[in-house]
Amino acid sequence: MARLDIRTLPDPVLRAPAKKVPLIDSSLHRLIDEMIETMNAANGAGLAAPQVGVSLRIAVIGIPDEEILTLINPVIVKKKGQRLIEEGCLSIPGYQGEVRRAVTVKVKAFDLEGREFRITATDDLLAQALEHEIDHLSGTLYVDLLDGPEHLWRTDGRMQE
Ligand code: ZN
Repeated sequence: MARLDIRTLPDPVLRAPAKKVPLIDSSLHRLIDEMIETMNAANGAGLAAPQVGVSLRIAVIGIPDEEILTLINPVIVKKKGQRLIEEGCLSIPGYQGEVRRAVTVKVKAFDLEGREFRITATDDLLAQALEHEIDHLSGTLYVDLLDGPEHLWRTDGRMQE
């Protein structure tokens, strides 16, 4: 298995709306395995296919101590509430920001065998990751959600340039 290159801003693939997966086959399974390996190697909590240059509606989520979640053609069916939380993105290295996210997120998606499932998360890292990764599939990044530039900072503690 190969680790994939993580695309960073301003790579245009990050801004393109991803296409629906038409068929779950062995090459898709392989891509997902490689995405998981890439996410783990980068210590990320999630990774969306556009971040490795593939414009398909696929995301993986890896919350510490929980089973890895694979989402194929995910859709957010319900969002409730609002909270301000800190966020970063493997495609925007060296930065972190504060964004508004929903408290409860309900998602519908397909698994590796093509079975539809639903998942609901409330007020936790999973809820945040679901929104963040599914945003990637429409070309949205967390920096688009900031209330202003003062809500973005460099993780090395220096002032933003
Ligand atoms: Zn991201």
